[in-house]
Amino acid sequence: SLSALAGQYAGLNLSAPVSLDAFWMPFTANRQFRASPRLLASAEGMYYRDVEGRPILDGTAGLWCCNAGHARPRIVEAVSRQGATLDFAPHFQMGSPLPFVLAQRLKAIAPRPLDHVFFTNSGSESVDTALKIALAWHRMRGEGQRVRLIGREKAYHGVGFGGMSVGGLPNNRKWFGPGLPAVDHLRHTLDIARNAFSRGLPPHGVELAEDLERIVQLHDPSTIAAVIIEPISGSAGVILPPPGYLQRIREICDRYGILLIFDEVITGFGRVGAPFAAQRLGVVPDMMTTAKGLTSGCVPMGAVFVSERIHEAFMQGPEGAIDLFHGYTYTGHPLACAAALAALDTYEEEGLFTRALELEEYWQEGLHALRGACPHIIDIRNYGLIGAVELAPRPGAPGARGYEVLERAFRRGLLVRVTGDTVALSPPLIVERTHIDDIFSMLGEVLATIQ
Ligand code: PLP
Repeated sequence: SLSALAGQYAGLNLSAPVSLDAFWMPFTANRQFRASPRLLASAEGMYYRDVEGRPILDGTAGLWCCNAGHARPRIVEAVSRQGATLDFAPHFQMGSPLPFVLAQRLKAIAPRPLDHVFFTNSGSESVDTALKIALAWHRMRGEGQRVRLIGREKAYHGVGFGGMSVGGLPNNRKWFGPGLPAVDHLRHTLDIARNAFSRGLPPHGVELAEDLERIVQLHDPSTIAAVIIEPISGSAGVILPPPGYLQRIREICDRYGILLIFDEVITGFGRVGAPFAAQRLGVVPDMMTTAKGLTSGCVPMGAVFVSERIHEAFMQGPEGAIDLFHGYTYTGHPLACAAALAALDTYEEEGLFTRALELEEYWQEGLHALRGACPHIIDIRNYGLIGAVELAPRPGAPGARGYEVLERAFRRGLLVRVTGDTVALSPPLIVERTHIDDIFSMLGEVLATIQ
């Protein structure tokens, strides 16, 4: 039974029969899933195994997070040792060593001057934390009228009310009321008509950065607190910035005293061939939100990187006054810190921060070779170890082709991620060329069956 199997893997005595209906799964068609479940039971390196013991090649690093691959002994052992030593410590007016050690390590790999780190438990919490720090920073400096936040269409910044509000995916917003007041959205930079099948950054669209200037003028610069942007967005189906776009956004922010936040929840920790996309793309934000690859996915954790000047402003009040009324019970959780430190050791020792650069061309060629696999492919996009294949929606059934790819790929032994009719790939950074060949050969076979 499912429970006996789960028990066997976790070393627990579970034997009662399990039905699939008590767990309300996130972002899932629950009834469809229960009728035809896809269940992963174990994982090692580049592979999952499903509950029948079949290997499933991980084309998505779990959910863009297991950058060092699965069940790496060093990470697992660090978590387990830490759990036996200090399982939990509060970090409100109290401390424990590991978050200090980890913050120092993170500072060393972050772009200067992002010298301070606030820990959270997820990407959504990192985004809400960064937005709140931006608002508080302006207020602290006597500019409390700067409350307007600017995101982009098609952006995904998690599911908190802040991230939902600055996010730009209609399905994630429309059920939940108006969200935060005073939020604007720039247009996204996905332009298949002009950029289809371009390799790496798309050539057209730098002028879209001027949207920011227009919105700033519309509301008056003195009302704008922050702009939040994914340097490369993943969840909307891989949207890349045209060269010069982020630089232009940075210039406009600087001209008007607006803070720039990069949401690096998927691009952080080596995904594009540098520790952070900011470094590869050559633009430094004022804050950077991260999660996922921070612990290689094995314990939930997020981190907000904050620039020296922002942090300094919070340190100006009376010494005995709390400087930021914000934080989580699990901020700096010892098990998460242990996982993150072991993940960083692994990334650094195995050269994983630059591996996406080394493999980029091979990855790109294999991905673009899929172009003829199916007549419905309308675009292929890539950067670092990220890839996307976009299919035209089936008339009257948007998302149906995408779902078929997900389902058939899983049955074929390949894990992909699908948003609408876009298939996204982001393998663990330990991926070898032979795995890349296998990913594209399985995906090609599956695409050939899509009507
Ligand atoms: N921001 C970005 C750019 C993301 O891609 C995600 C998740 O995919 C999030 C935020 C939310 O992260 P979490 O699911 O850990 O809350």
